[in-house]
This record gives sequence, C-alpha cells and structure tokens, in this order.
Amino acid sequence: MSTGGTEVAPPADPIDVVLGRDGIYRSCAEEMPLSRAELVWRAVRSHRETNDAYDRYCVRQGLPDQDDPELPLDRVPLLPTVLFKRDPALVLSKGGTPPLTDTTSSGTLGTVSTVPRCDATLMRFFGTVAIGDREILGSETFDRAVFNVGPTIHDAPNLWIAMVMAGVGVIMPSRSYLDEERLLAEELARDLQRDGRDRNVLLVGPPPLLLDLARVAAQDTRLRLGPGSQVLTIGGWKRRGGEMVEKAAFRSLMADAFGLERDDQVRDTYNMVELNSVLFECAHHALHVPPWLAAMARDPRTLAVLPSGAGGLLSFLDPTAVSYPCFILTDDFGSVRYDAHCACGMAGDTVTIERRVNRVESRGCALKLDVEGRSS
Ligand SMILES: [Zn+2]
Repeated sequence: MSTGGTEVAPPADPIDVVLGRDGIYRSCAEEMPLSRAELVWRAVRSHRETNDAYDRYCVRQGLPDQDDPELPLDRVPLLPTVLFKRDPALVLSKGGTPPLTDTTSSGTLGTVSTVPRCDATLMRFFGTVAIGDREILGSETFDRAVFNVGPTIHDAPNLWIAMVMAGVGVIMPSRSYLDEERLLAEELARDLQRDGRDRNVLLVGPPPLLLDLARVAAQDTRLRLGPGSQVLTIGGWKRRGGEMVEKAAFRSLMADAFGLERDDQVRDTYNMVELNSVLFECAHHALHVPPWLAAMARDPRTLAVLPSGAGGLLSFLDPTAVSYPCFILTDDFGSVRYDAHCACGMAGDTVTIERRVNRVESRGCALKLDVEGRSS
C-alpha cells in the first residue's frame, strides 16, 4: 500500500536477505530465498554488466550471453589469485559505490595482492564474519574479553588480516601487542594473567604469534582462562612456515599454555584477501562452507571439478562481492566434502586445507587462463 510521499526502499538484494537471516548455516536449501546457484549466477550477471574485462573473459570461456541458472557452477570463469598481484584496476567491477578501499595481503612472496572493496562488499564481508562467529563459534553465548594477537586496523588500515581480526573482535582492544612484527608476548601474558584469569577470553591471531605467546604463557602454570574462552587462528604461518606445528599438536599446546579444558576451544578460520567470506572451524574441527558460497577442488592440470573428498586446487564462487568478481582459483591445495553430515550437527560442504602450492608450481600448470585477454 502506498504511504503517500514517502520513498519506498528498493527491495533488498537476495544475498543481503541470506546474510540477514538467523540460523542460516543450519537452514535447509528450501529455506534459502534463492539457491546458492541462483545467487552465484546472479552475481556473475552483475559482474559481466559492470566489468568489461570479466565479460570478455566469460565470452572467451564460451559462457552464453543469456543467463541460464541450470548451467553447472563449474562453468563460472575463475580468476586465478595471481591476477590480484598485478593491478587492482584489472579486476574492478564498477557496480560498487565509491570510495573504494584497496585491501591488501601481507605479501610474503613477491608482490602484494590488492583487492578493491566498496562499502557494500566490506559490509557483507563483516556480515559473513559475524554469522560464522555466532553460528559456528557460538560466541554470543559468552561475555568475553578480546585479545588481538596481531596487526590491528589502527596499525595497518588496509591490511586484510587486520580487518578480519577487527570483524571477529568486534570491539577493538585499546592497545596493540605488536611492535613492528614482533609480538610483545611478555606484556600480553601479563595482561592475560591480570585480566583474563578465570574470565572468558577470545584470543585471536596468526598461529606463529599465538605460538610465541603460548611459549611465554606456559612459563606461568597458574594461568587458567575461563571455560567459555577460545583461541582463534586467522591467517597462516607465512614466513615462519619452518616452525609450523601440526594442527592437533598446536591445539594441545594452546590448551596447555592457556589452561583451557578442551582442545575444541582452539579453532581455525580460512580466508584470504581475495575471498569475501570467512570459513570457521566447528567444535569437531571441520571448516564449514557457508551456504551462500560454492567451494570446489579442481584438477590442477585440467581445472575439472574433483569428486567429494579428492584433493586439488581450491576454488570459490562468492556472491557477496560487488566491486570485483569473487570467483577465484586459489593457490591452496585441499579437498571439499559435499553435503557432509558433520558430528557437530550441521549438514553442508566442508573444506580441508592440505597445503599452499608454491606460486612457481601453480603458474606452471593451471593458471594459463589468459584472463586479461588480448582485447584490452
Ligand atoms: Zn561441524
């Protein structure tokens, strides 16, 4: 019914409806306003309309001009993540409202990756973090203090991992425990002892820094964080890959150092600067794929989608990004289990990360995709 002169708000984008829905990870397919395939094909259409280079790439990949939601999702043309190491203008879709934020990786090998994000893209990203935080980590049941063991957005406003941590932490801690790249572990351990004893704490950070902190904290055997505490790893080992600790051993190290009762209080996440959704690990240590995101493992040579559980290069189709096509082929080697029934009670796809393929290797096989094309 008309309300006179009042402006009628445009209908919400279906992806925003999905992100706004409670209990979305546990919703069955029929409860989704649009299926995952519909959400992804809708996003493909919108990027073709706002990104000429991506549209030409779709044409070269033989994608029909007319939308066909029945086409299998493995037909969506993928951008190899190496493309984001060149020029953000190459991947820019003009659908987003300026200003754009150039979000960057920390860039351990060669150049840094840069991803242009508009406000809507960022807001949806933070939405995916809040949903995972609530539905997979169960964070809202706890009142807890957040300790950020890594770069903050105050230190590094464009650094993606800092944004992810800001999303998880919600409330920014008043101080940073990083001096350049060195963790002020003694100070943090002292503050944990003073403010965190028997309290519920969320410790968030990259695994090598959490390991540094754990080594210092372990010297104080009296430290026992509250039963609702969690240690959450974000990001990888990067330059400190040589110190990498196997996951189960890492969890028990953390549990011992911080006086946690159970190793399911130590959880991992999966994300990269090119991906606009975060995957969270459940209490049974499965990384759950959010219901709006399509994850597939690909044969490194042919890029053919591999069956459930088989290892290959991971690819993601993420309909939450507006300012760049978030249809990416990663350098990460892993597997996807489709429609898995996890012991945590959730059904859906889960991902296992095996290792990061080195870039020289990955360039040599699957990435000759000629995304930039010859027509530019
Ligand atoms: Zn699970």
